[in-house]
Amino acid sequence: MAKIELKGLQKTYANGHRAVQALNIDIDHGEMLVLVGPSGCGKSTLLRMIAGLEPITEGELLINGERVNEREPGERDIAMVFQNYALYPHMTVFDNMAYGLKVRGMARAAIRARVEETASLLELEALLERRPRQLSGGQRQRVAMGRAIVRNPRLFLFDEPLSNLDAKLRGQMRLEIKRLQRKLNTTAVYVTHDQVEAMTLADRLVVLNQGRVEQVGRPMDIYRRP
Ligand code: ADP
Ligand code: ADP
Repeated sequence: MAKIELKGLQKTYANGHRAVQALNIDIDHGEMLVLVGPSGCGKSTLLRMIAGLEPITEGELLINGERVNEREPGERDIAMVFQNYALYPHMTVFDNMAYGLKVRGMARAAIRARVEETASLLELEALLERRPRQLSGGQRQRVAMGRAIVRNPRLFLFDEPLSNLDAKLRGQMRLEIKRLQRKLNTTAVYVTHDQVEAMTLADRLVVLNQGRVEQVGRPMDIYRRP
């Protein structure tokens, strides 16, 4: 469980481009915040700053009241799910999911138990010995989810996780993600350009435009406007 606070967060790239400008957003424990906005408005930049993949130029990122600006990505207790899965091609599904636990030094038996529990949550039990190339797109996306969930992180970051899937699978996975996030009650920030996804998933929606917040509210309130 985590409360996230973005306090005056800014990103100016080396070429002087201001991708994110003085952003102030609080995200509650267990809340799913969905970020939408036109291409180039700063969504990925913001996610990457939260994940620690991009330095914060100005402002503060607080997790449960603690400043984490200077922490390495691996020290933030955050898991990110990407659209291109980012699975290790030479490893089995089991090893893909176990990897993050191994590098943290978890004992072998505990890893097995944790991976199996996660696999059952995602109905991946029968696929644990396969490699990514032997999986469908939807199955790969489930493994990517599994890899995020298995660590029991304080925060999920989703960067358009479903945009490579066909419409039917996207619909299924959308419901799956909602179900899992509710069940685990993990705070989440979810980036998408799909309006249906935003409507279905968001507890609260943030519309970004040119690095600034244009609107914040419940999906109903935002999409109802003319
Ligand atoms: P979105 O994810 O909403 O499409 P991005 O966060 O990727 O937007 O990009 C925000 C803006 O910052 C865009 O104008 C983009 O071209 C610019 N940008 C992204 N990365 C860099 C970079 N490394 N250097 C300079 N400008 C960048
Ligand atoms: P995405 O599909 O995630 O929006 P992009 O194709 O916009 O990714 O960007 C790919 C990479 O190029 C990213 O690492 C981003 O930071 C970088 N990038 C994007 N825009 C610029 C830019 N104007 N100048 C320099 N790097 C950029």
